[in-house]
Amino acid sequence: MIYCIYCWEQIGESDHFCMHCGKKVAEGTKEITNLMMQSEVYPSPITVARRRVQQTKELLFAGYSLHLWGGNGSCCSGCAKYRDRIYSADGKDRRFPTIPQYICTCPGVSIGAYFEGITKISAAKGQNPISFSNRPFLDNRTKKEKTNYIHFVDRRIYTLLNQKDKVTYQQLKIILPEDAPRSFSGFKRMKNEDTKNFSELSKKASSTGMDISYSYAERIVVKRYLKEAKETGFR
Ligand SMILES: [Zn+2]
Ligand SMILES: [Zn+2]
Repeated sequence: MIYCIYCWEQIGESDHFCMHCGKKVAEGTKEITNLMMQSEVYPSPITVARRRVQQTKELLFAGYSLHLWGGNGSCCSGCAKYRDRIYSADGKDRRFPTIPQYICTCPGVSIGAYFEGITKISAAKGQNPISFSNRPFLDNRTKKEKTNYIHFVDRRIYTLLNQKDKVTYQQLKIILPEDAPRSFSGFKRMKNEDTKNFSELSKKASSTGMDISYSYAERIVVKRYLKEAKETGFR
């Protein structure tokens, strides 16, 4: 399983096209998925799934078997299908669906105890909570929510790439002390802007066996992130 860099949805490792957004799988996609999985800074999809299981167990242990999975806005297609519903965590209350099992890239749902007649599902807008929880399991994200989710993951990936770049820069200073930019921010600037100087430096580095440039997939993510960061002012 890998993540499509255009929509950040899960696809098969040998897929050539993304079944969600239809785009051709970019070169370097697998490496970005690996980066996400190894990250200690942000929870990996597996960590998110484990946390969900843990929260469910804790609530059950405390005696609460009806759980509300509240939506958090920007989320993956999996969370979109399962958000804003009440689940029967032990499967005993047949009025509600049982807890779904899926792995995702985001903290798209928050899990809490559901108190019948008291807790409100705000997304239900007054509809019956039982029928609302049993509505078709579809990705009901708005266009805006989908874009928000892409930017959410982009920001994470950019931070991870930044950490990697810091290591690259330190190595570059050792291997090519004469050519390395004076500061990391200088290095980052030329790399982000993909300047002529950077491509020369990159060639020089690769002659020593060092790869300092972004892969095709990384470049797409970085460009998209920087464009969004410039427009919205987030850093
Ligand atoms: Zn896609
Ligand atoms: Zn999710």
